[in-house]
Amino acid sequence: MPLPRVLKDLLSLPTGTFVEGAVLEYIESTCSNLKGVTYTSDRYGNIVAHYRTRPPGSTPLVFAAHTDHPGFVAQEMVDAKTVRAAFRGGVASSYMEKAKVRFWSGGRWINAKVRELTRTVAAPRFGAGATRPEEGLLTVAQPVEPNSPGMWDLGGPVLDGDLVRGIACDDLAGVAAMLALLARLSKKQAAAEAYCLFTRAEEVGFIGAIGAAEARTVSKKLPIVAIETSKALPSAPIGAGPILRVGDRASIFTPELTAWCGQVAEKLAKRRKGFKFQRKLMDGGTCESTAYVTYGYDATGLCLALGNYHNMNEKTGKLGSEYVSLSDWRSLVDWFEALVLDPDGFAPTESKNMARVDFGKKFYAQSARLETSPRG
Ligand SMILES: [Zn+2]
Repeated sequence: MPLPRVLKDLLSLPTGTFVEGAVLEYIESTCSNLKGVTYTSDRYGNIVAHYRTRPPGSTPLVFAAHTDHPGFVAQEMVDAKTVRAAFRGGVASSYMEKAKVRFWSGGRWINAKVRELTRTVAAPRFGAGATRPEEGLLTVAQPVEPNSPGMWDLGGPVLDGDLVRGIACDDLAGVAAMLALLARLSKKQAAAEAYCLFTRAEEVGFIGAIGAAEARTVSKKLPIVAIETSKALPSAPIGAGPILRVGDRASIFTPELTAWCGQVAEKLAKRRKGFKFQRKLMDGGTCESTAYVTYGYDATGLCLALGNYHNMNEKTGKLGSEYVSLSDWRSLVDWFEALVLDPDGFAPTESKNMARVDFGKKFYAQSARLETSPRG
């Protein structure tokens, strides 16, 4: 089984925080070729794609994923062979000594190497005394233009058994899954409606997502399912199915929406052999769902367990490509489709009441025991 085209294409593109242009262009050109799909961007450059064909009338879902990844961004050449570059995103400084980097400048990759980290800040989440860089000096083979994204020079993308290895699986694998959903709906001309929100600048604090929430880029009435790759945990391994993310390091997401996504997955597992999913609290990081919930949206998360989170191979202490399971990724797209095509759709108040009715039926019958049994 080859690497699906959309994953291969996206994982080959340059990106960085605030410099997501190549990924955004790819999203726009893909959407322009899909019947039933239109797109717009908001004033922050986030893109909203909208699929609508014979809409069934239920509340459409919004899927959301971010288009950036931690890395360098060129600032200025300080001499013919040296560029000063910002580092945007959370990666521990200890991984970066003499690391090989490639800058995308003038339509080609230019080789570079980290010479020195010139500004670092404390990053206790990576261990006692750990830091992360904000700026560095890199030796470059040729001059690079300001705002060129600089990514780790780790090769790929490649398919290695069931593992998709690429520098920026976080979150281009999520972006790819959303484009695969749009392509599938469009190809079938499914009677459905759904939005896909592609955000910018997540890695420095959900800047694009917060902008989208402030600007009402999608209506407050629409539920948001944020898609992430999230650091694999011993209890949430790679290859055991995509994950219903009940919360992150900062918060718990909208319980009714989370429960409904779980119910749709259970129905899908019954009718499709081989579909499996996990339900977990992924507290290895914080994700955009927290931002959406803070702004009053109904929001939850689905994610793929991610290896070498932010390119940090904790076993070797060296940089490595990130990786996700291709079968998890495929199941995630199937899950999206099942959510969009679910005959009942998500109805916030209704599902709240349903949960209460079920819960009540199950346990109220037992309550008489409280009256008859002693307190002990
Ligand atoms: Zn991410």
